Parts: sequence; structure tokens; C-alpha cells
Amino acid sequence: ATPTAVMVGTGVGASQGVLIKGGQALESAHKVNCIVFDKTGTLTIGKPIVVNTRLLKNMVLRNFYELVAATEVNSEHPLAKAIVEYAKKCREDEEIHVWPEAQDFVSITGHGVRATVQNKEIIVGNKSLMLDSNIPIPIDAEEILIETEGMAQTGILVSIDGEVVGVLAISDPLKPGAQDVISILKSMNVRNIMVTGDNWGTANSIAKEVGIESVIAEAKPEQKAEKASGLIVAMVGDGINDSPALVAADVGMAIGAGTDIAIEAADIVLMKSNLEDVITAIDLSRKTFSRIR
Ligand code: ADP
Ligand code: MG
Repeated sequence: ATPTAVMVGTGVGASQGVLIKGGQALESAHKVNCIVFDKTGTLTIGKPIVVNTRLLKNMVLRNFYELVAATEVNSEHPLAKAIVEYAKKCREDEEIHVWPEAQDFVSITGHGVRATVQNKEIIVGNKSLMLDSNIPIPIDAEEILIETEGMAQTGILVSIDGEVVGVLAISDPLKPGAQDVISILKSMNVRNIMVTGDNWGTANSIAKEVGIESVIAEAKPEQKAEKASGLIVAMVGDGINDSPALVAADVGMAIGAGTDIAIEAADIVLMKSNLEDVITAIDLSRKTFSRIR
């Protein structure tokens, strides 16, 4: 393509809310034959909500949530925000929400959080966090987790002083139109892969819903960055933990509503945060680089 064609291409992209950072980014996009999608906030809406609470011990829900919220209020994770929001609803009578004080707060990336609240050790997170903390997972909790994950929800365990006392079910639905985007990409001969830090059960359920056959779950940021060989890979993501993968991919595409770090790391920014614009970007690149050859 001529420099003019490239300029036109990036210009058209910009007018449609697809910010292409330079000619190289526009050129690489037409060769893409595989797209790796982050799950949370990319394929899903990214505003998770607590949809169910299962207590395994005889406890008052409100007291349970006081301890959980006091711990999670220190975390920036979207799941933490969902949990704190729900805890607020459990005491609707109060206008200002002050949680008990938490000491020794620790965030374990990709696993959960831990703190001491009212002299109790509170741990909120996934199964591996409990196992790493030498906390046994009771059979009933295991069963609730399987049930929750089968419904494409994330199950979060809560332990108090070394004992699992509750399971939270958190739902983060697919973005509207996500299924269509995947089926169009398939018709364009593009392979789709979903990658997530979430557990395998939930990941597989979501992937099935959206129509993606290849899944990488319980992935660390550096695993997200590992490239499929022989393929020209585009990575689509929104989170800080997606940035290494956005850089490593042949083409990194960031969701406009995502974190600044992801936007900076990407070659292309989907300003409208529409998944359809992944197709817009590839189309534009294909048009620019096949018409004028
Ligand atoms: P994703 O790739 O979906 O953004 P993360 O790597 O951030 O996932 O987190 C992976 C998993 O770790 C979550 O699905 C959840 O089970 C657990 N987790 C992470 N942060 C928290 C938190 N603040 N509270 C509870 N669980 C958490
Ligand atoms: Mg994400």
C-alpha cells in the first residue's frame, strides 16, 4: 500500500472509533489468522454482580458480609467491587458504609485477598488460594462450586479462621453481540482463543456460550502472552494483566474502556469498546493492503 493509502486507512479507522497507532499496526492486522480474547471485560461486560450466597455455617448473612467487605474494600479487583456492592445491600438501612477495620491486608494476584478483621483471619478467593493456605475445601463447597461454574458464574470461597464458611456466586454476562462477532470471525477463517485467570469450569461455560472452542484458564499474565506458533496473533484485552500479551502479540487491541496501561500497550484501540470493531480493524487493514497491491 502507498503511504497515502495507509493514511486514508488510519483516517477511516479514527472516524469509526478505531485508533490505529501507525502504519505497521494497520499492516499487521490484515495477516491476523488467530485472535486471543481476554474473558473478563473483553468478552464479558466486566461489571460482575453477586447473584447468590451460600453459607455453610449457621451465620447471619449481614455479619458474614461485614467481614468479607472489610477485606475486599481494600482490593481494586472488579470481583471485589461486586462483593462490596452486595455487602452494602445487606445493610440497606445505613446511608454511610463504614466497614470494620482490616489489618495486614494482602492481595494475592490472580487468587484473592486476605486480612485480619475483628481478630479473625478472613480469606476470600479461589480454590487454589484456600489450598495454598492449607484450608480444606468441604465437599458441599466443592459441589456448590461445580454447580456455579456450570452456570458460567465464578464461585468465590470465603474462609474465617481456617474454615470455609461460604461460597459466593458472581455473574458477569457476555457482551451483547459477542456470539455474532465470534461467528463472523470464524467465517473470515480466523481462529479464536479465550484466555482468562478465572477457573476452568467457569471459563469453559462462558466459552461454550460465546462459541469459542479453545480455552486457556487459570492463566497468569505471562501465560496470556505466550504466542500460538505459526499463527499471526491479535490479542484483545482490557486489563493491566493483559498488557504483556498485548505487547507480545503481532497486533495488540485494547478495549477503550479498559485500563490506561492496556491502552498504552496496544497497537490498536477500540475507542467505542465494541467487540465488533475487532472486525472493523481487520477489514480496514485487509482493504488497505489487498486493494493496492
Ligand atoms: P481475570 O483474567 O478474569 O481478570 P484474575 O487473574 O484477575 O482474572 O483473577 C483470577 C481469579 O482470582 C478470579 O477469577 C478469582 O477467583 C480470584 N480473585 C482475584 N482477585 C480476587 C479478589 N479481590 N477477591 C476474590 N477473588 C479474587
Ligand atoms: Mg479483562
